Amino acid sequence: MVRYYNELTRLEMEQVDKDETVVMIPVGALEQHGNQCPLGTDEIIAEGTARRIKEALDREIPDYPMLIFPLIPVGLSTEHVNFCGSVTLKPDTFYHVLYDICKGLAHHGFRKIAILNCHGGNSPIIQVLSREVRSELGIAVFIINCGAFFGNQAVKDTVTPGNIWDFHGGEMETSMVLAERPETVKLETSEAGIPRKFMGNKTFTVYGPITLGWVSEEWETEDGKPIGIGGDPSGATAEKGNQIYDSFVESILSGLKEIRKWKD
Ligand SMILES: [Zn+2]
Repeated sequence: MVRYYNELTRLEMEQVDKDETVVMIPVGALEQHGNQCPLGTDEIIAEGTARRIKEALDREIPDYPMLIFPLIPVGLSTEHVNFCGSVTLKPDTFYHVLYDICKGLAHHGFRKIAILNCHGGNSPIIQVLSREVRSELGIAVFIINCGAFFGNQAVKDTVTPGNIWDFHGGEMETSMVLAERPETVKLETSEAGIPRKFMGNKTFTVYGPITLGWVSEEWETEDGKPIGIGGDPSGATAEKGNQIYDSFVESILSGLKEIRKWKD
């Protein structure tokens, strides 16, 4: 049974099987996503993904033991702070927010935490945290990296041919916001972004073996204006967004079944 952590009473919480229950913590970010998408894009995606995971588990594995923790809406967004509205925690603040939550959950006996991370910039800290918590508190922090599912073929199939740089604030993310909160998207203002300074390189690239802690100003329009997004959002639709969520949820359910068998 999947329930929301903050809706349980103390007495109900006392009855929860702490050894088996997975506490899933959705994590977003508060940062610019181009002209067309809201600052809370990653939060909206995290919330939508968590709810759709719950709906799928209720349907397919109704005895799955899970609690969905309240969403964390601000993360590590250093690369976006020079665009209006972006707010970041410092790396060590973000680490300690997550660490203290894990410690609190461990204190009550939980042994399985799954961080549903919907912002790539958060990933390095979450990886460090997972290992530190395992070593210091002896519990498992599983990492559900939503960014990894953008590589699913069913997700790639939603992207307009030729839109090869699509990721942050692009067609895929914009489609996902359209599927959840269409009133927040201003698609008519969208512009496409490319990593101009890296283009033409083979080895030193945005995600290559030799890279750089880039900032999002390095994602520019064709004519060199900093735009802070990767890809062309103009082809985004809610229908594509729903297809993307379906693929995310299929992958995540497969992982959750395996997590259920994990014994520490
Ligand atoms: Zn995003």
